[in-house]
Amino acid sequence: MSKRILVVGNWKMNPATLEEARTIIRKVRHAATELSHTDVVMCPPFIFIAAGSHRTDSSSHTYLGAQSVSSHREEGSYTGEVGIHMLRDMEVQYVIAGHSEERARGLNDVEVSRRVAAIVHEGLTAIVCVGEHVRDEGGVYLDTLKEQIKNSLADVPVKSAKDVVIAYEPVWAIGAQQAMNPEQVYEMVLFVKKVFADLFGQDIAMKMKVLYGGAVNAENAADIIRIGKADGLLVGRESIRPEGFAELLKAVDTISDK
Ligand code: PEP
Repeated sequence: MSKRILVVGNWKMNPATLEEARTIIRKVRHAATELSHTDVVMCPPFIFIAAGSHRTDSSSHTYLGAQSVSSHREEGSYTGEVGIHMLRDMEVQYVIAGHSEERARGLNDVEVSRRVAAIVHEGLTAIVCVGEHVRDEGGVYLDTLKEQIKNSLADVPVKSAKDVVIAYEPVWAIGAQQAMNPEQVYEMVLFVKKVFADLFGQDIAMKMKVLYGGAVNAENAADIIRIGKADGLLVGRESIRPEGFAELLKAVDTISDK
């Protein structure tokens, strides 16, 4: 096994209470103690992040992530925003940038790129979400995707590219019943790595991680890693169902020939 598998749970705007958030964190951490090859990142809403900070045990490979961050690097008069220093102080190590649900509310590539730059500047890992809305037979969606990747990383210096993970999430698969098939995932993982290599060089692209996201569950997760050759997964709905998420983690962790 060359690289550790990275599974990121995007809780979105869930759950409703702090108590439920604490329960999910506890159960996921417990499930992760059984894993050998997999790192798990939980991304609760900002308000619940502190519930996972300042842990006393360091036995399982679980980390805290945030779903978003301000592009303003310094504290100041930015009502409603949460800054990268605050996240770091809460022991957050991963931050999602450019999730399609935020893009649908008006977030553009320019702002995504500023956020990614703020994240990597602080030495945290940026999970940059990209993906097409629809597919056309002529393959125009590939050009669109390439532009989205380039523009979303426009402010990232080459020396920080190692701190970028790309989450390829076809928008049509997010929240859907069915994930993309693993063979198609494989094509897209190669495509994203090729674009990354053009931007930052082959060496960095060889070491980078490309995650797949969109309707991942315990049944399809292993094939997406094994056949799709994704380096990990970005999981939405299933990440707040600790039992199902535990099964998913177990399924990917047992792939030994990745
Ligand atoms: C997501 O929120 O990024 C996602 C992939 O959601 P789901 O797993 O629910 O499709």
